[in-house]
Amino acid sequence: MSEITNLTATEIASAVREGIVSAVDILDAFLDRIADVDPHVGAFLIVTSDAARQAATAVDAKIAAGIDPGKLAGVPIAIKDNMCTRGIATTCASKLLDGFIPPYDATVITRLQDAGAVIIGKTNLDEFAMGSSCENSALGVTRNPWDLSKVPGGSSGGSAAAVAARLVPIALGSDTGGSIRQPAAFCGTIGLKPTYGMVSRFGLVAFASSLDQIGPFANTVDDIALVMEVLSGHDPKDSTSLPIDAPELMKASHGDIKGLRIGIPDEYFADGISEPVREAVMEVVDKLVELGAVVSHLSMPHTEYTLPAYYIVAPAEASSNLARYDGVRYGNRASKTLSHEDLAEKTREQGFGPEVKRRILIGTYALSAGYYDAFYHKAMQVRTLIQQDFVKAFEHVDVLITPTTPTTAFGIGEKSDDPLAMKLSDICTLSANLAGVPGISIPAGFDDEGLPFGVQLLGPALSEALLLKVSRAYLDATNWTDQEPVL
Ligand code: GLN
Repeated sequence: MSEITNLTATEIASAVREGIVSAVDILDAFLDRIADVDPHVGAFLIVTSDAARQAATAVDAKIAAGIDPGKLAGVPIAIKDNMCTRGIATTCASKLLDGFIPPYDATVITRLQDAGAVIIGKTNLDEFAMGSSCENSALGVTRNPWDLSKVPGGSSGGSAAAVAARLVPIALGSDTGGSIRQPAAFCGTIGLKPTYGMVSRFGLVAFASSLDQIGPFANTVDDIALVMEVLSGHDPKDSTSLPIDAPELMKASHGDIKGLRIGIPDEYFADGISEPVREAVMEVVDKLVELGAVVSHLSMPHTEYTLPAYYIVAPAEASSNLARYDGVRYGNRASKTLSHEDLAEKTREQGFGPEVKRRILIGTYALSAGYYDAFYHKAMQVRTLIQQDFVKAFEHVDVLITPTTPTTAFGIGEKSDDPLAMKLSDICTLSANLAGVPGISIPAGFDDEGLPFGVQLLGPALSEALLLKVSRAYLDATNWTDQEPVL
């Protein structure tokens, strides 16, 4: 059955819909592969075999009855464990949420299920999505499928590793400052952070609400387009959801890129970007030129303030969002407490890991009376300048190309004691969240150690189809997505 796990989601859905293979057979093949491979990788926190079997059986029953099972018929999908799943534990990889079982599904879950997808399990992440390596998970280690001594990236490291290791054809992640694109780059998969408001955040456990966005990982552009057609579109349950229909990305992402204007923002190639990564990006540029694109250099002068602005805005929002974990409503509750204050204090002290505590402290400080203007207000002004850099850039070019990460995947333990070094691995991805624009990381070859390179494409709001078209043109002209790690 091993060849089933090499099928793309698009291939699986059409084979299931045509009755060539049953959804249950597809599920069994992926469950077998997870049982064989995941003990080495550690992508999953929980595999929901029983619920998955029910879903697959329901798809097969629909097909037998002549009812259309949906665009993702029988496609196994993994979900980052910060999206609520009714009746199934949702942990955010935190001890604090131990025992939390959501009474409702996130909108993305409902939409996947309505389209016939089979949710196969929940994947590991940095606690509350804060981190860049999965090492902040309180629940387990995830390893990079290309080299088990390296991190998979983060915070959606489990989802990226699951797709890279062919444990699922598609997985969902969330991206607040790079948490889809950075692990996609480290694991050699495609990862898309959609335009802010494109995918409903209802049921996504909030980290920084003005930056958070759900998006997919997959090994082909078709699969990204297919699942985005299911996930996107207005949701009345999320007040920041855009009032638009899901775009027809599968159709719109085909075509040549002759005359496409690509911009190289010089500030994204500054100190800290490794030479092999810089060369990998330039090779992608050369290939795109061969395919008909026109390239120019440009300046985005506020880029150097991206990291400081993000690390005020994101922790400020996090400190407010995480205030709800007081031991009363969600998850774990400290015992032997004397008052409500004591309960909240002990629950938070025992439940949150060190990085989450650091963010809450920074965010609370930045929002407090007397410091608000100097920190939060200032950071929001800088955020506007960064947004304007993008607006100006897109007056001259159609898409921007940058590294996704300054280096390829680093070793497990290599940066875990140095929070600043860890944060620098997001230096190229944070700006898209501050500006609300879409970004994609695509595979771009391998370094001397056999670790994947990722290259980032950024476009104006709602340019997902264009980003996918450029990605498709490049990936069709190379064979990076056919390569898979030996496990
Ligand atoms: N690594 C970044 C952080 O720790 C981004 C996280 C994310 O996108 N969820 O904040």
